Amino acid sequence: TGEVLRKPDWIRVKLPAGDQVNRIKQTLRANRLHTVCEEAACPNLGECFSHGTATFMIMGDLCTRRCPFCDVAHGKPQALDAEEPAHLANTIAAMALKYVVITSVNRDDLRDGGAGHFAACIAEVRRRSPATVVEVLVPDFRGRVGKALQILAAQPCDVFNHNLETVPRLYQQARPGADYQGSLELLKLHREHLPQVPTKSGLMLGIGETEAEILAVLDDLLAHGCSMLTLGQYLQPSKDHLPVQAYIHPDQFQRYAEIATEMGFKQVASAPLVRSSYHADLQAAVIVGV
Ligand code: SF4
Ligand code: SF4
Repeated sequence: TGEVLRKPDWIRVKLPAGDQVNRIKQTLRANRLHTVCEEAACPNLGECFSHGTATFMIMGDLCTRRCPFCDVAHGKPQALDAEEPAHLANTIAAMALKYVVITSVNRDDLRDGGAGHFAACIAEVRRRSPATVVEVLVPDFRGRVGKALQILAAQPCDVFNHNLETVPRLYQQARPGADYQGSLELLKLHREHLPQVPTKSGLMLGIGETEAEILAVLDDLLAHGCSMLTLGQYLQPSKDHLPVQAYIHPDQFQRYAEIATEMGFKQVASAPLVRSSYHADLQAAVIVGV
């Protein structure tokens, strides 16, 4: 009740450091690109950037939704930047990345939810860097799933990621404007359109869910064809965001990993600092052979 939980020892933010990190940041600014790594103040930033990994956020840094766990700013979105696919592809080529994650804010203002822009970005990255593996982490395309998938299916990614974020009981609180069943359907339909592309999803733990609820979500994901899973600790970006209800012990994350693997997930990353894109290259190595 209003009390802020103390962060346990295992939540340690690794200090971002080094020339390589700064060099990447400069390249990003020069190309007017945003990364989730920076926007969400991700605790893995130093590690990922120094390995040359980053998650790019396309279509601006203002979201049309306002999820209380999320640190992305809310507001009237900017017009799409037609140059962005080229800038993104230039940056990825310049950084010689082998694995990229492309994600976006929600664009409920666009008729295709931004699917066309995603497809243009994938196409441009493929053209410039044919060997680079491309994972997309997409919003839910609420109300436009059919249309969005048609567009995306014409320009296949290598891994299709869409996060459920939490258990259905907490949707109203944590993901207002989203729909649990709708997100499951999105994963399932992508698999039907492009059966060769693995689908991936993730949850943040520690916002009040129970173990039984998590296991039920894992069942649902498997039943909708999802084969890759990420589980990480929710961290409160500021005191105005959704409070942390519990810091889940690393042993419990390990337990979830074992259960999920046994249930049938082909790839599982489960630990306090795991993020959807954390070591995405390693997560995908098993599946797409990078
Ligand atoms: Fe960026 Fe993802 Fe790494 Fe965080 S885990 S720094 S968001 S690539
Ligand atoms: Fe953040 Fe995504 Fe919610 Fe927008 S839709 S506020 S980017 S979690």
